[in-house]
Amino acid sequence: MSIARSMDHWLGLAALPHLTEEQAATYERGHTADRRRILSGLTVTLAALYLLYAAVDTMILPGVVWLSLGLRFGLILPLALVLVRFQAVPSRSIRTQEIATLAVSMAGNLVWCLVLVFSHSPAALDYFYAAVVFQMVVTIALRPSLDLAFKASLATAVINYAFIGFLAGATPGYIAYHLALYVPTFVLTLVAAHQIEAERRRAFLQLHENDTLKRELSRQNDALVRLSATDPLTQLPNRRGTETEITRMRRVLKAHDLHNSAVLMVDIDHFKAFNDSYGHGAGDECLKQVAEAMRRELPATIHLARLGGEEFLAVLPGSEATRTAILAERLRHAVSALAIRHDHTGDRNSHITVSIGAACGSIATDAAFAHLVETADEALYAVKAAGRNGWRFAERHSVLPAKDEAA
Ligand code: GH3
Ligand code: MG
Ligand code: MG
Repeated sequence: MSIARSMDHWLGLAALPHLTEEQAATYERGHTADRRRILSGLTVTLAALYLLYAAVDTMILPGVVWLSLGLRFGLILPLALVLVRFQAVPSRSIRTQEIATLAVSMAGNLVWCLVLVFSHSPAALDYFYAAVVFQMVVTIALRPSLDLAFKASLATAVINYAFIGFLAGATPGYIAYHLALYVPTFVLTLVAAHQIEAERRRAFLQLHENDTLKRELSRQNDALVRLSATDPLTQLPNRRGTETEITRMRRVLKAHDLHNSAVLMVDIDHFKAFNDSYGHGAGDECLKQVAEAMRRELPATIHLARLGGEEFLAVLPGSEATRTAILAERLRHAVSALAIRHDHTGDRNSHITVSIGAACGSIATDAAFAHLVETADEALYAVKAAGRNGWRFAERHSVLPAKDEAA
């Protein structure tokens, strides 16, 4: 690789960017449709040009008109037609198609040489300088991959120089003149093919790099969004996560469900005393357990978030009063059933409990949602005032006696 690079450098060539195996496969895939179109378009153009040259043969080489017409139209035209059909098969790889196209180009070159050799006309010597055209075709016109361009160039040179000695009047001096034109054409067209390939690869790598960067950025962005929407202690969504979720619900839910939703405001009772008595670490552990117990209790369609401190919010889309009441009681019971010891509640319970305020209404707009949360908050304070470890609806409902109160 490094030898090739330094060779490129000394020859004044742009370094050919190296592609990994995976990149090379992507490169091939990305170019296939384009290359297929270009190859068949070029085949038609070059074949038309080649057949037009029958007119040149007629003018310059009158002695071999029928041979030229016969070979060009009777052999190369059918070959070109077969080639166009061959190229239309999508399952054939681009490399196979390039090889087939190069082969037909060389057949055309061979036929042209034969016509010139059989003509015995002195004009054939001048005409034979057109051999460089075939060199141009297999390199910069067909633009096959670099290795194929190189091999085809060698084969084309072999064909041309195998016949040059049989041309009428070809002298060593003539061959030297011919080489003086052919060799630079050979080298320069290959240099051009090399540069084209280098440019193509560079453009691809740039695009590939941009894509990779974009994907990585978007992945990191997603992770950041997830992180900023999640409470690190309980792994529940936080306030921001709630905003996102409400926005999502508004997008996917029916208007009826949005207008008939409910929220539950949950607050751990006497949590300050718990922290003060058992320490902040125990407080954190308690928050985690309470969060997990409540999450387990709720169906996945219900959004449960930690708003901050020891306050949680559940959003119940499309939930009428009965279902809301059942879920509120289930939450209260689930926390109570954890039986996390709390000897400093100051009331009759000696374990962690929660108070829950419930409200039914619309979450269709930000204002409606804020109002609903406020109403549930008022209900929550009413539960606190009524002795905690319970739940109630705003205004219309009273606190239900907790079944495990005496426990
Ligand atoms: P009430 O029954 O009326 O709700 O009383 P409370 O003590 O639970 O309410 P208060 O608002 O007075 O206290 C909340 C406590 O929650 C204060 C703080 O020490 C604790 N707290 C808030 N966030 C965290 C946290 O992330 N970790 C821990 N361990 N404690 C927290
Ligand atoms: Mg509180
Ligand atoms: Mg509290």
